[in-house]
Amino acid sequence: MVLIVYSFKPQEINVSDKDKESNPMDDLQKQLQDFFGKASVNFVPPNMGFPEKEDNFGGDAEDEARVEALEKIRAFNYKPREIKDYLDRYVVKQDEAKKAMAVAICDHYNHVRRCVEHPELNKKDYAKQNVVLIGPTGVGKTYLMKTLARLIGVPFVKADATKFSETGYVGYDVEDIVRDLVKVADGDVELAQYGIIYIDEIDKIASRSGEGSKDVSGRGVQVNLLKLMEETEVNLVGQTDMMGQMQAMMEMQHSGKSRRPNINTRHMLFIVSGAFMDMSGIISKRLTNTQIGFNNALTDSVDDNEWLKLAETPDFIAYGYEPEFIGRLPVRVAFDRLLSEDLVQILTQAEDNILHKYIEDFKGYGIEATFTDTALREVAELAEKENTGARGLMTILEKKLRAFKFELPSTVIDSFEVDEAIIQEPHQKLEELLEANVGEQDAMMTREVDEFATRFHDAYELNLEFTQDARKVLLGMSRERGKTIREICEQRFKDLHYGLKLISQNTGVSSFIADEALVKDPDKEVSRLVLESYNTQVIQDDETA
Ligand code: ADP
Repeated sequence: MVLIVYSFKPQEINVSDKDKESNPMDDLQKQLQDFFGKASVNFVPPNMGFPEKEDNFGGDAEDEARVEALEKIRAFNYKPREIKDYLDRYVVKQDEAKKAMAVAICDHYNHVRRCVEHPELNKKDYAKQNVVLIGPTGVGKTYLMKTLARLIGVPFVKADATKFSETGYVGYDVEDIVRDLVKVADGDVELAQYGIIYIDEIDKIASRSGEGSKDVSGRGVQVNLLKLMEETEVNLVGQTDMMGQMQAMMEMQHSGKSRRPNINTRHMLFIVSGAFMDMSGIISKRLTNTQIGFNNALTDSVDDNEWLKLAETPDFIAYGYEPEFIGRLPVRVAFDRLLSEDLVQILTQAEDNILHKYIEDFKGYGIEATFTDTALREVAELAEKENTGARGLMTILEKKLRAFKFELPSTVIDSFEVDEAIIQEPHQKLEELLEANVGEQDAMMTREVDEFATRFHDAYELNLEFTQDARKVLLGMSRERGKTIREICEQRFKDLHYGLKLISQNTGVSSFIADEALVKDPDKEVSRLVLESYNTQVIQDDETA
């Protein structure tokens, strides 16, 4: 974004008297200065804050990328099968959801392409393929949508419905999400108009009657969202965007007309999602009441998630949605629960998988981590119990391997295998691993002592030589306190150079043996040595005299 306000001293303004009289900018500036308590304020010329291709974006390469993205969208020619194939590379399971989304996306962007080819189509009514995704947390709803947006090359934003307030004065105005889409598109309004808006936790804005005042606001948010999902012009300057508002005002003053930069939502695709867990009762009731074949015994045995796959418009209305609102969301997609075998696949097979990321984290410290199959199965089983879908995988990996990530980077260990035992008893296994490497570890720590001595020499031109006993004491401290040798040395010897410099001045000696006594109590030992050095100095002085 272009800087909107900057300050300078008023006397630096160099305008002729004539200009002063005629320039409405100055009047406005004066009014604003009064308003801000005479602060020194100036505005860049109007017109610059609104997204304009020439002045708002980075280099030519970025412009080219955006032109390319626009061309790609306008020439959209994927087939649903191709889209599903692409999704299969990343998203595990969720076959029905992938198929439904592939079709919805193709329909939507085919229509966009046709509107570009035949602009007269823009005047005709078109029922957009907005989508409701139904499913518990962590099963890949957002991930699937992000993957799709990346394939098509459109900007993507996500927000929680609970953030919206009906009025926009408190909280987040529904139109803010459209403005966010423009931000994600780096201010490119043309590109943003084809973007995907994803609103999660939509089940929280259902307005079931008789459940208190919050429901009223839920209905209001639904009505506002409805307008966006259909087609509306959204002003790029939000109500609470003071800077933007002022700029628009100045634009008016300057040019005498308002440019009102808007974006149209006609070609945006809206995806809403929620867990809708307590809607299964509504669906099962409808089906057992109306359909032969749904007897009570069956009702009891069907999992909530299975009921949700059968959701229809009346169920959403009974749940608390306005018929017009749910009517604008014709595509309904239910996601499957992820079982432990799916979670193993997510860990290992999906491109860009979670395990790969975890292994990369260790690589960042130069450590090669490998996982046995049984360890992965154990992680997946524990993750399933978390009930947070694939998110549980990250939780379990973090919980089980956090201590390894903390300790190993400061050791000599540069590879290790995560097996079932590590997942079951991480702390004990870490201890054993450290124990098994204790010899090499000591060698490394000893090197760290030498590195400290080198740094000490570079900083103060004083040589320190640590005795074997002194090194042992340092190693012991490092283990006992769980601190690196570097940290121990830097803390313990932070004032050492003062004393040693003094001794050096008195005696001309610049090399010192750091023995056990010095390491154990540096202050006491150095004080003793300093005193001794004065005696030496006296003797030296006497000798010279
Ligand atoms: P939600 O359903 O709550 O939107 P997300 O899509 O945000 O869940 O999933 C969280 C993370 O878990 C994703 O970023 C992805 O790494 C992983 N994940 C979830 N589901 C799947 C899946 N079906 N296939 C592959 N990865 C998945």
